Amino acid sequence: MEWRGCSLEEVSRCPLCGDEGREEVYNFPPFKVMRCHRCSAAYLSPRLREEDMVGFYQDPSYYSSSSSPLGYSDYSAQAKGLEKSFRVLAKKLKNMGVTGGSLLEIGCGPGILLKAVGDLFSHKVGVDFSRSALEKAKAYAHEVVVGGIEVLPKTRRFDTVVGVSLIEHVYEPIAFMRSVVSHVEEDGAIVMVTPDFDGIWRKVLGERWPSFKVPEHVIFYNRNSLRLLGEVCGLTSSFFYFTQFALLSLVLNSLGMDGLLKALDGLQGLSLPLPHTMLGVVFKRQGHGS
Ligand SMILES: [Zn+2]
Repeated sequence: MEWRGCSLEEVSRCPLCGDEGREEVYNFPPFKVMRCHRCSAAYLSPRLREEDMVGFYQDPSYYSSSSSPLGYSDYSAQAKGLEKSFRVLAKKLKNMGVTGGSLLEIGCGPGILLKAVGDLFSHKVGVDFSRSALEKAKAYAHEVVVGGIEVLPKTRRFDTVVGVSLIEHVYEPIAFMRSVVSHVEEDGAIVMVTPDFDGIWRKVLGERWPSFKVPEHVIFYNRNSLRLLGEVCGLTSSFFYFTQFALLSLVLNSLGMDGLLKALDGLQGLSLPLPHTMLGVVFKRQGHGS
């Protein structure tokens, strides 16, 4: 998969609040990360056109190719860490009272979260652009559907809708969230987990921050911009942190410390908790608690 040669589009205003005021904060040629002066969302400009991006998500190599510049370079190596992270998330969802009933996961990939939530939900549905990932997710869901949320019948509603590492990929977040809201029961919950642009990791790692996955991540959120996204859609927000478990070898690799890896022979299968890497938010309709 190769994005070079695809045409790029300039983004002249903030995709979240529409403001034109901004400054360049990072540069990953030919892509730049702009920060909105008004709502503090950061966004990619220029970016790939959405139809090209979706083409990459549909490609079977998105979740499996180690040579691909896009996608997850070694999703199966990360799977163990992800499983651990998602078991912690499942427990959190239970403690926050958003389990039970029906679950929709948007962008479920091979179904690691659907597996981790076990029987905390009575009916589990996963949607994803990747047909090959859904082949795996099938084992952990009652239904899987190829595509985005728009493939669901308009009348279909769920008690909980979850999207992990999802909204940073979404080109038109307000239209998207409105469509998510239309698929949630009146007293239901929407749970989103996304990298925290104002978290400690971006500040420490700077341009090496692993969440600068360009060109796939088109918007970077913090609490403020997530809250705004909710408000525009008539939702209240309550925040939580999502702890990522990552293989030591992947962590050292992303820090450019491969040398240390050799010295730590035998510990490479170890996964480390990386607290506060991702920000979680539970959105509920105003008037239905927060
Ligand atoms: Zn903005």
